[in-house]
Amino acid sequence: MNFAVPTYDSVESFDSNYIGGEWVPSERPVSIPVEAPALGRVVAHVPASGPRDVDRAVRAATAASPVWSATKPVDRARVLRALRDALLANQEVLASLIAIEVGSPIKSGRYLHVGMAAESLEAYAAAVESFDFEHVRGNSQISHHSVTVAGAITPWNYPLSQVTWKIGAAIAAGAPVVLKPSEIAPLTAMYLARIWQELDLPAGVLNIVPGHGALAGQSLVENPGVGAVSFTGSTAVGREVAATAGRRLIPATLELGGKSASIVWAEELFSRAVKSSVMSSMLNAGQTCSAWTRLIVPDDRLEEATHIAVEAAAKLRIGDPLDESTSLGPLVSGLQRERVRDIVRSSIAEGTTLAFGDLAAHSKDDGYFISPFVFTNVRSEMEVSRREIFGPVLAIQPASDLADAVRQANDSAYGLSGAVWCDDSAKAIEIASCIDTGQVYVNGARYNPNSPFGGWKDSGLGREWGSYGMEEFLQVKSIQADVFDASGSA
Ligand code: NDP
Repeated sequence: MNFAVPTYDSVESFDSNYIGGEWVPSERPVSIPVEAPALGRVVAHVPASGPRDVDRAVRAATAASPVWSATKPVDRARVLRALRDALLANQEVLASLIAIEVGSPIKSGRYLHVGMAAESLEAYAAAVESFDFEHVRGNSQISHHSVTVAGAITPWNYPLSQVTWKIGAAIAAGAPVVLKPSEIAPLTAMYLARIWQELDLPAGVLNIVPGHGALAGQSLVENPGVGAVSFTGSTAVGREVAATAGRRLIPATLELGGKSASIVWAEELFSRAVKSSVMSSMLNAGQTCSAWTRLIVPDDRLEEATHIAVEAAAKLRIGDPLDESTSLGPLVSGLQRERVRDIVRSSIAEGTTLAFGDLAAHSKDDGYFISPFVFTNVRSEMEVSRREIFGPVLAIQPASDLADAVRQANDSAYGLSGAVWCDDSAKAIEIASCIDTGQVYVNGARYNPNSPFGGWKDSGLGREWGSYGMEEFLQVKSIQADVFDASGSA
């Protein structure tokens, strides 16, 4: 089962939602236009679903729950791996779609977007196979049970992996899921529904209802049939989702914003570390929640770090995301570009030193292109160090010593990710343990889809990936009976 690789002119529109294994027209006769940010024009439409569509999807998921929650872990793993294989078989299709609707360069899209999504499904498959769903402790039998229906709400920046991180976790746990993808980049999720259907995977276990957040998203969280919700997006909306979930007393996993720091305290690794930090901050045009957008270096190496960073930023090839040579695509929308420009403008007005970048560049292009920006000699209290910008903007901050570097790294409302670079790995690990974030990468270590992903502080609650993600959709029960107690000890 392979789909045709889409182009700007051939990308498909959808007029129905995917509910209970069927394409069901929306109750609302309105659609959402989807733009290609590289062209700045609408290339497709999806339904703008309403509460009745969402309710229909929740009812389909509820109907699928008794059978799906009773399937064996090995059968759930089989479904997850079938989906993984299909993503890889359609890597070109999906990477092209993401290039079209998000503007992510196709070259990195293949492994970054599609590769990460496939790896997450494998991690969930492995987790469900090895998870201890039932065990005895003393006279208690402790068992794990899926919630009846999972609700998933995703943003636009990684429209495939953000989706697989949530639906994979729910499916592994045994919970049918209703997904509300971002209105800005919903096409990849709709293709995922087609893949699910083509593979003939269980009807009702995956339901996809695109729509506006304030209507479809909100009604999904409010729907009494939804037993747990997983949300990725801004901290502001995350708080609203948490408040609604709190009123309903259902768990909410929240993956929110970030402003992660990369501490470079190295000799041998210095140049590589600075270049990697630049690449992280510019990845997906800076629209990555876990990007290392603050680079912290010794104050006597600020000039050297700035020079390396500027050189790396200048080498980025801005262009059509479908072109193999492009390394920096456009921002996702005109609004996003205006937000980024506003922060760059106000940072310059605040007196922050701009080492690279041009606000006027690309203003006449049809698409939402923007130059990369490198600010230097930035202090923690400056806007460019505090705000999550979600654009290709790096802030380089000098620190007087290591303690100051750690203090600056932790001087943030967010706590999602981060990096530490030090020639002595033991020292780097020691520094990493002092960083107040959910994840830290030491000396360019590879990401691990079996590790827990999620934030501290304003970056969220709960975790995704592997068994940690799956557990967000499980409820625990203990039955006390003396027959369980072989040893007589608790
Ligand atoms: P938003 O918070 O605006 O939206 C995220 C999702 O929530 C979208 O699907 C949106 O719908 C929906 N939504 C909006 N309002 C509501 C509501 N009242 N109730 C329920 N759902 C709602 O974020 P963006 O999509 O703009 O994504 C960018 C933000 O996401 C960034 O600020 C970034 O910090 C954060 N992010 C965090 C990540 C993480 O893992 N920590 C990863 C990626 C992004 P609609 O389709 O209408 O927009």
